Amino acid sequence: MPTPTLGTTQILDRAGARRSDDAWLSTQRTGEASRFMILVDLKPVIAPGPERTTSEIRWLSTREVQALALPVDDALFLGLDTDGRAHFAISITDHLARATPGAVQYFRPAVDLRTLAMQGALTSEDQSLAGQARALGQWHENARCCGKCGSATRLKDGGWRRKCWACGTEWFPRTDPVVIMLVTDGDRCILAHEHRYVANMYSTLAGFIEHGEDIEHAVRREVGEETGIRVGKVEYHASQPWPFPHSLMIGCIAHAETTDLQVDTTELADARWFSREEVRAMLESRHPDGLTAPGRHAIANILLRHFVGES
Ligand SMILES: [Zn+2]
Repeated sequence: MPTPTLGTTQILDRAGARRSDDAWLSTQRTGEASRFMILVDLKPVIAPGPERTTSEIRWLSTREVQALALPVDDALFLGLDTDGRAHFAISITDHLARATPGAVQYFRPAVDLRTLAMQGALTSEDQSLAGQARALGQWHENARCCGKCGSATRLKDGGWRRKCWACGTEWFPRTDPVVIMLVTDGDRCILAHEHRYVANMYSTLAGFIEHGEDIEHAVRREVGEETGIRVGKVEYHASQPWPFPHSLMIGCIAHAETTDLQVDTTELADARWFSREEVRAMLESRHPDGLTAPGRHAIANILLRHFVGES
């Protein structure tokens, strides 16, 4: 199975059974060996790697985060490495970053994670950890108030739960499942250009799974709504966490039973059938019309490479 560069390399033990122990977490948050990733407006702070052609997460020590008076009690627990060293993320606003005395050198540069993924600037391990931190940080930003009674919620379990102080309702980090599917009639596949894409880029169809749907139904519904194509067999191929804000992309191969496209132009700017040769040319940036496909950071790229027989 091919490995997408964004989010599938798990290198830390999330210690699910221990992170609910407040005393244990407190010890980890103040332990000398612990490491802290900083997110400024959800952008990870990075540093040039040893070769200077790539970057890596800039980890701060416990001493550094204490000296900067960062909100360590709200640090998000990412996990333990093989040496038992705890890794956390501290998510702060750009306003706080600017207002923290002496901190500028510690918080620059903070770079948008999607940009880093597209550039392939981080190792897959760092990309995965930054994605985990970004998704969790974004969820906390949106879960400060109880969805049931509107009162404030408090962070628990190192960031893996919030609890309403008034009504006691517990809230857990959510993941939004998205189906992303390569529709094929055997020889060709359907790719679409969405209004928000950069010019000339075509990608596979995708859409959120709705309540009450299984994966197969969501694939058939989305493809039908957007292109009018009837899909029969649906095969799971691969998945990928996508921390924008906190989705799980479920990659499928969808076998078309019809071929007559009726494109929903409110959703898509264009959609059409592409031959394997055309897709190969797009992946290799040599399509005669200058058409391109998503890069290796995206699961669409994995699906397309599978289609042309590269995996
Ligand atoms: Zn409540």
